[in-house]
Amino acid sequence: LEKHFEVGGGGFFGLTPAVKLRAVDDVSLSIMPGETLGLVGESGCGKSTLGRLLLRLIEPSAGKIRFDGQDITTLGRGAMRAVRRGMQIVFQDPYGALNPRMTVEDIVAEPLVIHGKPSGEATRREVRAMLDRVGLPARAMERFPHEFSGGQRQRIGIARALILKPRLIVCDEAVSALDVSVQAQIVNLLQDLQREMGLTYLFIAHDLSVVRHISDRVAVMYLGRVVEVAAKQAIYGAPLHPYTKGLIAAVPASHPSLRSRGRRVRIAGDIPSAINPPSGCRFHTRCPHVMPVCRERAPALLETAPGHQVACHLTEIPPG
Ligand code: SF4
Ligand code: MG
Repeated sequence: LEKHFEVGGGGFFGLTPAVKLRAVDDVSLSIMPGETLGLVGESGCGKSTLGRLLLRLIEPSAGKIRFDGQDITTLGRGAMRAVRRGMQIVFQDPYGALNPRMTVEDIVAEPLVIHGKPSGEATRREVRAMLDRVGLPARAMERFPHEFSGGQRQRIGIARALILKPRLIVCDEAVSALDVSVQAQIVNLLQDLQREMGLTYLFIAHDLSVVRHISDRVAVMYLGRVVEVAAKQAIYGAPLHPYTKGLIAAVPASHPSLRSRGRRVRIAGDIPSAINPPSGCRFHTRCPHVMPVCRERAPALLETAPGHQVACHLTEIPPG
């Protein structure tokens, strides 16, 4: 999957050429039914863009998206609307995502109404049951988003995402804006709902402690590319890519409850721009193991062990 954005351009007499920002560049990922795939990486690495591409909230520049075996990349509006019943997104900022002038009842019922269900007593009952499921009282129905705390607002956002009984939920930094204790409550709620409703999650986050808690497998992104994918145990216990190693080293092992939010990862240098990404391996400007080949050739994402894929020339070199 690829997503390029044209940035800049125009300028004086239109003489400044637009440049291509490769937000998602040659990414190939699968998410299995019922699993939680964590997607991590520093901000700007393309995680959110990838999440939106899966739901076709934005259109890919190249590549294919398959959902339940169906190629949905070029589906028209009507067919896509039917598919979207099965895939929903929960955003980081529930307040920004909820219309402040709508009651909670209307906010949660809206997806049902959009998909043709008449607003009436049956819909009210469905909304009430869903609010109960996410831990909100029935009296929340008549209230407005600003009357709720951040955690409660995220519960409203989750109720809205689940009202159509989807199968895949993209959680884009869904707990990142919340206090640590509230984060734990929402993560536990997401896990309960996953078990009850058979949900599949793409859990996008920059906080590695939360991702470790909730994920079955983890994909690591760097500057628009996936550099490592593996089971959670392998990513946290035996990471292979130098970038993943740096990310994991920045998580305090002795304080598992301590969040790494707001602190810089222990990787030298700044993230280069995705507009003019480094040649070859994009991590070569920061990698402690950089070799001449790294500047020339991009490493392919290759399987080093069953279910463990890495894009690095160190692991690409055949053993023996
Ligand atoms: Fe480092 Fe080279 Fe591996 Fe890139 S390919 S992560 S620069 S060793
Ligand atoms: Mg993001």
